[in-house]
Amino acid sequence: MITPRPELPEEHRLMREEGDKFRSLYYYKHMACPKCGNVHLETTYMGIVLNYNDMNSYKDTNRAKCSCGWNGIVHDLKGSI
Ligand SMILES: [Zn+2]
Repeated sequence: MITPRPELPEEHRLMREEGDKFRSLYYYKHMACPKCGNVHLETTYMGIVLNYNDMNSYKDTNRAKCSCGWNGIVHDLKGSI
């Protein structure tokens, strides 16, 4: 017998949406090399947990490396504009 997958309760779905929005904005603000502005960086891809109750504490600590010689973490990158 096949049990249908339960739907996410509405509040969870909304929270997820908020989280997705937050993440998009976060990466928009942390995407370019702080030294030369290059956006094509070598980064690691470790999953970072987003705490929905405290989204501003989100900090992507993946390593980022630029061809100009700068290297640090994704959180140190600056916005593209
Ligand atoms: Zn650079």
